[in-house]
Amino acid sequence: MPDTIGSRRRKTINALKDAAGDDAALEARLLMCGALGCDELELLFKEKEIIDTDAEEKLDALVERRIGGEPIQYILGEWEFMGLAFTVREGVLIPRQDTETLAEEAIRRIKRLGGGRVLDMCCGTGCIGISIAKYAGAEATLCDISDECLKLAAENAEKNGVSARIIKSDLFDGVDEKFDMIVCNPPYIRSGDISALQREVRREPLLALDGGVDGLNFYRRIKKDFKKRLTRGGTLMLEIGFDQAADIRAIFGHAEIIKDICGNDRVAAIDTKEDSDA
Ligand code: GLN
Repeated sequence: MPDTIGSRRRKTINALKDAAGDDAALEARLLMCGALGCDELELLFKEKEIIDTDAEEKLDALVERRIGGEPIQYILGEWEFMGLAFTVREGVLIPRQDTETLAEEAIRRIKRLGGGRVLDMCCGTGCIGISIAKYAGAEATLCDISDECLKLAAENAEKNGVSARIIKSDLFDGVDEKFDMIVCNPPYIRSGDISALQREVRREPLLALDGGVDGLNFYRRIKKDFKKRLTRGGTLMLEIGFDQAADIRAIFGHAEIIKDICGNDRVAAIDTKEDSDA
Protein backbone atom coordinates (compact mmCIF):
# COMPACT_ATOMS: atom_id res chain seq x y z
CA MET A 1 0.00 0.00 0.00
CA PRO A 2 1.49 3.35 -0.99
CA ASP A 3 1.68 5.95 1.76
CA THR A 4 -0.73 8.81 2.05
CA ILE A 5 0.75 12.21 2.74
CA GLY A 6 -0.70 11.99 6.25
CA SER A 7 0.93 8.67 7.07
CA ARG A 8 4.23 9.84 5.57
CA ARG A 9 4.05 12.92 7.77
CA ARG A 10 3.62 10.75 10.87
CA LYS A 11 6.53 8.50 9.85
CA THR A 12 8.64 11.59 9.30
CA ILE A 13 7.90 12.82 12.84
CA ASN A 14 9.24 9.51 14.17
CA ALA A 15 12.28 9.66 11.94
CA LEU A 16 13.07 13.14 13.30
CA LYS A 17 12.53 12.37 17.00
CA ASP A 18 16.23 12.21 17.87
CA ALA A 19 17.46 14.99 15.62
CA ALA A 20 14.68 17.51 16.28
CA GLY A 21 13.33 16.57 19.74
CA ASP A 22 10.32 18.72 20.66
CA ASP A 23 10.36 20.29 17.20
CA ALA A 24 9.95 16.96 15.36
CA ALA A 25 6.30 17.59 14.39
CA LEU A 26 6.99 21.13 13.19
CA GLU A 27 10.11 20.10 11.30
CA ALA A 28 8.31 17.14 9.71
CA ARG A 29 5.65 19.52 8.38
CA LEU A 30 8.25 21.94 7.07
CA LEU A 31 10.26 19.22 5.31
CA MET A 32 7.04 17.75 3.83
CA CYS A 33 6.15 21.19 2.52
CA GLY A 34 9.65 21.48 1.08
CA ALA A 35 9.37 18.12 -0.69
CA LEU A 36 5.83 18.73 -1.95
CA GLY A 37 6.32 22.38 -2.83
CA CYS A 38 3.33 23.53 -0.81
CA ASP A 39 2.61 25.56 2.33
CA GLU A 40 1.43 24.22 5.70
CA LEU A 41 -2.25 24.88 5.03
CA GLU A 42 -2.13 23.06 1.69
CA LEU A 43 -0.34 20.20 3.41
CA LEU A 44 -3.25 19.85 5.82
CA PHE A 45 -5.71 19.50 2.93
CA LYS A 46 -3.51 16.93 1.16
CA GLU A 47 -3.34 14.50 4.13
CA LYS A 48 -5.41 11.79 2.38
CA GLU A 49 -3.69 12.02 -1.00
CA ILE A 50 -1.14 9.40 -2.04
CA ILE A 51 2.40 10.76 -2.01
CA ASP A 52 4.10 10.45 -5.41
CA THR A 53 7.52 8.85 -5.79
CA ASP A 54 9.19 12.05 -6.83
CA ALA A 55 8.09 13.82 -3.62
CA GLU A 56 9.03 10.74 -1.58
CA GLU A 57 12.53 10.75 -2.94
CA LYS A 58 12.87 14.46 -2.28
CA LEU A 59 11.58 14.02 1.26
CA ASP A 60 13.99 11.13 1.98
CA ALA A 61 16.91 13.29 0.92
CA LEU A 62 15.78 16.22 3.10
CA VAL A 63 15.15 14.01 6.14
CA GLU A 64 18.55 12.37 5.73
CA ARG A 65 20.27 15.77 5.79
CA ARG A 66 18.34 16.75 8.92
CA ILE A 67 19.18 13.48 10.70
CA GLY A 68 22.82 14.13 9.80
CA GLY A 69 22.67 17.31 11.92
CA GLU A 70 22.15 19.99 9.30
CA PRO A 71 20.01 22.88 10.60
CA ILE A 72 16.47 22.83 9.18
CA GLN A 73 16.90 26.43 8.05
CA TYR A 74 19.78 25.56 5.69
CA ILE A 75 17.83 22.61 4.33
CA LEU A 76 14.74 24.73 3.62
CA GLY A 77 16.87 27.60 2.30
CA GLU A 78 14.55 30.20 3.82
CA TRP A 79 13.63 31.34 7.33
CA GLU A 80 11.35 33.93 8.82
CA PHE A 81 12.51 36.91 10.85
CA MET A 82 10.17 39.72 11.96
CA GLY A 83 7.48 38.25 9.69
CA LEU A 84 9.71 38.59 6.62
CA ALA A 85 11.26 35.76 4.59
CA PHE A 86 15.05 35.61 4.40
CA THR A 87 17.09 33.33 2.19
CA VAL A 88 19.60 31.41 4.32
CA ARG A 89 22.43 29.09 3.41
CA GLU A 90 25.58 27.55 4.77
CA GLY A 91 28.27 30.09 5.60
CA VAL A 92 25.84 32.62 7.07
CA LEU A 93 24.35 32.83 10.59
CA ILE A 94 20.68 31.80 10.73
CA PRO A 95 18.34 34.60 11.90
CA ARG A 96 17.20 33.90 15.46
CA GLN A 97 14.11 34.87 17.38
CA ASP A 98 16.34 36.33 20.14
CA THR A 99 17.55 38.89 17.64
CA GLU A 100 14.02 40.18 17.02
CA THR A 101 14.41 41.98 20.37
CA LEU A 102 17.15 44.12 18.83
CA ALA A 103 15.20 44.69 15.60
CA GLU A 104 11.99 45.63 17.46
CA GLU A 105 13.71 48.07 19.79
CA ALA A 106 15.58 49.67 16.88
CA ILE A 107 12.36 50.00 14.87
CA ARG A 108 10.60 51.64 17.82
CA ARG A 109 13.38 54.20 18.25
CA ILE A 110 13.74 54.99 14.53
CA LYS A 111 9.98 55.49 14.22
CA ARG A 112 10.16 57.92 17.14
CA LEU A 113 12.83 59.87 15.24
CA GLY A 114 10.65 59.80 12.11
CA GLY A 115 13.34 57.93 10.11
CA GLY A 116 17.07 58.08 9.87
CA ARG A 117 20.21 56.43 8.64
CA VAL A 118 21.00 53.04 10.11
CA LEU A 119 24.13 50.91 9.82
CA ASP A 120 23.71 47.15 10.35
CA MET A 121 27.26 46.02 11.10
CA CYS A 122 28.11 42.29 10.85
CA CYS A 123 24.87 42.05 8.86
CA GLY A 124 24.97 38.33 7.95
CA THR A 125 21.68 37.66 6.09
CA GLY A 126 20.84 41.35 6.51
CA CYS A 127 17.80 40.47 8.62
CA ILE A 128 18.16 43.27 11.21
CA GLY A 129 18.88 46.18 8.84
CA ILE A 130 16.35 45.01 6.26
CA SER A 131 13.61 44.73 8.91
CA ILE A 132 14.39 48.24 10.17
CA ALA A 133 14.30 49.62 6.62
CA LYS A 134 11.04 47.80 5.90
CA TYR A 135 9.14 48.67 9.07
CA ALA A 136 10.62 52.03 10.08
CA GLY A 137 11.44 53.43 6.64
CA ALA A 138 15.08 53.87 7.64
CA GLU A 139 17.84 54.28 5.09
CA ALA A 140 19.86 51.12 5.63
CA THR A 141 23.53 50.39 5.10
CA LEU A 142 24.59 46.78 5.62
CA CYS A 143 28.19 45.76 6.16
CA ASP A 144 30.03 42.53 6.82
CA ILE A 145 33.52 41.10 6.43
CA SER A 146 32.23 38.02 4.59
CA ASP A 147 31.61 38.13 0.81
CA GLU A 148 29.17 35.26 1.22
CA CYS A 149 27.10 37.38 3.63
CA LEU A 150 27.20 40.48 1.45
CA LYS A 151 25.90 38.53 -1.52
CA LEU A 152 23.10 37.04 0.55
CA ALA A 153 22.24 40.39 2.19
CA ALA A 154 21.85 41.92 -1.28
CA GLU A 155 19.55 39.07 -2.32
CA ASN A 156 17.50 39.47 0.84
CA ALA A 157 17.15 43.23 0.44
CA GLU A 158 15.79 42.68 -3.05
CA LYS A 159 13.54 39.84 -1.93
CA ASN A 160 11.97 42.14 0.67
CA GLY A 161 11.70 45.16 -1.61
CA VAL A 162 14.19 47.25 0.35
CA SER A 163 16.99 49.29 -1.15
CA ALA A 164 20.10 49.11 0.99
CA ARG A 165 23.72 50.14 0.57
CA ILE A 166 26.01 47.17 0.98
CA ILE A 167 29.64 47.60 2.00
CA LYS A 168 32.43 45.14 2.67
CA SER A 169 34.01 46.06 5.98
CA ASP A 170 35.81 44.56 8.95
CA LEU A 171 33.74 46.29 11.66
CA PHE A 172 34.23 50.05 11.03
CA ASP A 173 37.35 49.77 8.83
CA GLY A 174 35.52 50.29 5.52
CA VAL A 175 32.84 52.67 6.85
CA ASP A 176 33.42 56.37 6.38
CA GLU A 177 30.08 58.05 7.11
CA LYS A 178 27.90 58.84 10.10
CA PHE A 179 24.63 57.18 11.08
CA ASP A 180 21.76 57.98 13.43
CA MET A 181 21.86 54.43 14.67
CA ILE A 182 24.29 51.53 14.50
CA VAL A 183 22.89 48.06 15.14
CA CYS A 184 25.14 45.05 15.52
CA ASN A 185 24.86 41.39 16.46
CA PRO A 186 28.56 40.57 16.67
CA PRO A 187 30.06 37.18 17.49
CA TYR A 188 29.89 36.91 21.30
CA ILE A 189 30.29 33.27 22.28
CA ARG A 190 33.39 32.50 24.38
CA SER A 191 35.86 30.46 22.29
CA GLY A 192 35.92 27.76 24.97
CA ASP A 193 32.11 27.37 24.82
CA ILE A 194 31.92 26.73 21.06
CA SER A 195 32.53 22.99 21.23
CA ALA A 196 29.63 22.57 23.69
CA LEU A 197 27.09 24.28 21.39
CA GLN A 198 24.28 22.25 19.78
CA ARG A 199 25.54 20.33 16.76
CA GLU A 200 23.29 22.43 14.49
CA VAL A 201 24.87 25.66 15.76
CA ARG A 202 28.30 24.17 15.11
CA ARG A 203 27.32 23.96 11.40
CA GLU A 204 27.06 27.74 11.39
CA PRO A 205 30.08 29.92 10.60
CA LEU A 206 32.54 30.27 13.47
CA LEU A 207 33.23 33.74 12.13
CA ALA A 208 29.74 34.77 13.26
CA LEU A 209 29.90 33.12 16.70
CA ASP A 210 33.38 33.22 18.22
CA GLY A 211 33.88 36.35 20.31
CA GLY A 212 37.32 35.40 21.64
CA VAL A 213 38.42 34.01 25.01
CA ASP A 214 35.93 36.05 27.07
CA GLY A 215 33.43 36.56 24.20
CA LEU A 216 33.90 40.35 24.35
CA ASN A 217 36.54 41.04 21.66
CA PHE A 218 34.12 42.63 19.21
CA TYR A 219 32.49 44.86 21.83
CA ARG A 220 35.92 46.22 22.78
CA ARG A 221 36.75 46.93 19.12
CA ILE A 222 33.36 48.57 18.56
CA LYS A 223 33.86 50.77 21.64
CA LYS A 224 37.04 52.21 20.13
CA ASP A 225 35.39 53.57 16.97
CA PHE A 226 31.62 53.82 17.25
CA LYS A 227 31.36 57.48 18.30
CA LYS A 228 33.10 58.64 15.09
CA ARG A 229 30.36 56.91 13.09
CA LEU A 230 27.33 58.27 14.97
CA THR A 231 25.61 61.59 14.41
CA ARG A 232 25.18 63.79 17.51
CA GLY A 233 22.87 62.02 19.95
CA GLY A 234 22.93 58.79 17.90
CA THR A 235 22.52 55.35 19.41
CA LEU A 236 24.52 52.14 19.27
CA MET A 237 22.40 49.03 19.74
CA LEU A 238 24.08 45.70 20.37
CA GLU A 239 22.86 42.17 20.81
CA ILE A 240 24.60 40.65 23.84
CA GLY A 241 24.87 37.26 25.53
CA PHE A 242 22.46 36.63 28.44
CA ASP A 243 25.32 36.94 30.97
CA GLN A 244 27.22 39.86 29.43
CA ALA A 245 25.29 42.93 30.66
CA ALA A 246 27.76 43.81 33.43
CA ASP A 247 30.75 43.43 31.07
CA ILE A 248 29.05 45.60 28.46
CA ARG A 249 28.37 48.34 31.05
CA ALA A 250 32.02 48.13 32.11
CA ILE A 251 33.25 48.44 28.50
CA PHE A 252 30.90 51.27 27.42
CA GLY A 253 30.51 53.10 30.73
CA HIS A 254 26.72 52.97 30.53
CA ALA A 255 24.10 50.99 28.66
CA GLU A 256 20.36 50.47 28.82
CA ILE A 257 19.75 46.72 28.91
CA ILE A 258 16.65 45.25 27.25
CA LYS A 259 15.44 41.70 27.85
CA ASP A 260 14.32 39.19 25.20
CA ILE A 261 10.96 37.35 25.35
CA CYS A 262 12.54 34.64 27.51
CA GLY A 263 13.46 37.27 30.11
CA ASN A 264 17.20 37.15 29.38
CA ASP A 265 19.33 40.28 28.99
CA ARG A 266 19.68 40.52 25.21
CA VAL A 267 20.19 44.05 23.95
CA ALA A 268 22.37 46.95 25.07
CA ALA A 269 21.42 50.45 23.92
CA ILE A 270 24.23 52.98 24.26
CA ASP A 271 22.92 56.49 23.80
CA THR A 272 25.55 59.09 23.03
CA LYS A 273 23.37 61.93 24.28
CA GLU A 274 24.12 60.68 27.79
CA ASP A 275 27.82 61.33 27.18
CA SER A 276 29.28 64.67 28.14
CA ASP A 277 32.01 64.17 25.52
CA ALA A 278 29.70 63.12 22.64
N1 GLN B 1 22.76 33.82 20.07
C1 GLN B 1 23.63 33.08 19.23
C2 GLN B 1 23.76 31.64 19.74
O1 GLN B 1 23.97 31.42 20.91
C3 GLN B 1 24.98 33.71 19.13
C4 GLN B 1 25.00 34.75 18.11
C5 GLN B 1 26.22 35.59 18.17
O2 GLN B 1 27.33 35.20 18.60
N2 GLN B 1 26.05 36.76 17.74
O3 GLN B 1 23.62 30.74 18.97
